[in-house]
Amino acid sequence: PPPRAKTATTPRHIPGVRHIIAVASGKGGVGKSTTSANLAVALAQLGQRVGLLDADIYGPSMPKVFGITEKPRLIGPRTLEPVTAYGVKVMSIGFLVDPEAAMIWRGPMVISAITQMLREVAWGDLDVLVVDMPPGTGDAQLTLSQQTPLSGAVIVSTPQDLALMDARRGVAMFQKVEVPILGIIENMSTFICPHCGGRSDIFGHGGARQEAEKLKVPFLGEIPLAMQIRTTSDSGEPIAATDPEGTHGKAYLAVADQV
Ligand code: ADP
Repeated sequence: PPPRAKTATTPRHIPGVRHIIAVASGKGGVGKSTTSANLAVALAQLGQRVGLLDADIYGPSMPKVFGITEKPRLIGPRTLEPVTAYGVKVMSIGFLVDPEAAMIWRGPMVISAITQMLREVAWGDLDVLVVDMPPGTGDAQLTLSQQTPLSGAVIVSTPQDLALMDARRGVAMFQKVEVPILGIIENMSTFICPHCGGRSDIFGHGGARQEAEKLKVPFLGEIPLAMQIRTTSDSGEPIAATDPEGTHGKAYLAVADQV
């Protein structure tokens, strides 16, 4: 019989892009986007050529986190130029569609929009393309993990039991499609009071490390729960770029070093 045509589920390499890394979480609100942004910045600071694809269809936050107000330019019939901010080439679904409209998209539309952002963007030569995945582990995420030529996946979780349960599902999803798990990051870890220096484990502490050990995947580090991380995200100045020598900036650099 003739060789079978490549199906849509065969991941195709993206010319010029060495590695594609997915950042995922089992559920929303655990800080996946904040972590993706700061991780991308930290990787760039370590000397990598970095792109960031904001595929979080239901809540694209990269334009805001990076303080980007311009739109990507059309530089060819079907080619967009990503916007560079803090040393990272950024492309976001938020540049292209109204998030309110995208909220009601079905799985196949989500997948085709993300495929377009992978293939019809002039990424140029990159060492790493970080993909901020849509939250959850449904069909859209599964298909996306199958169709994107991923080198590996990073799972973001809070230390809390509930979030960890979802993180476990994320790990299982990537394992199902044979994408290597690069590791788990514990976000919103121990809070240190800026006034008294006291420590509070608001969402717990150490849960992600234990879970990583249980699942036999690497543990990539802890990012504290900190007001500065939230405020710098809100003001479009990711802390890994604006305060790389501070405690939080260093925490992101340490994680990037592990990836
Ligand atoms: P997700 O992408 O998982 O939905 P976000 O990255 O949008 O989550 O984060 C949700 C909210 O929590 C945002 O307001 C963000 O600024 C904040 N946040 C994320 N990580 C931290 C952290 N380590 N400390 C404090 N606030 C954080």
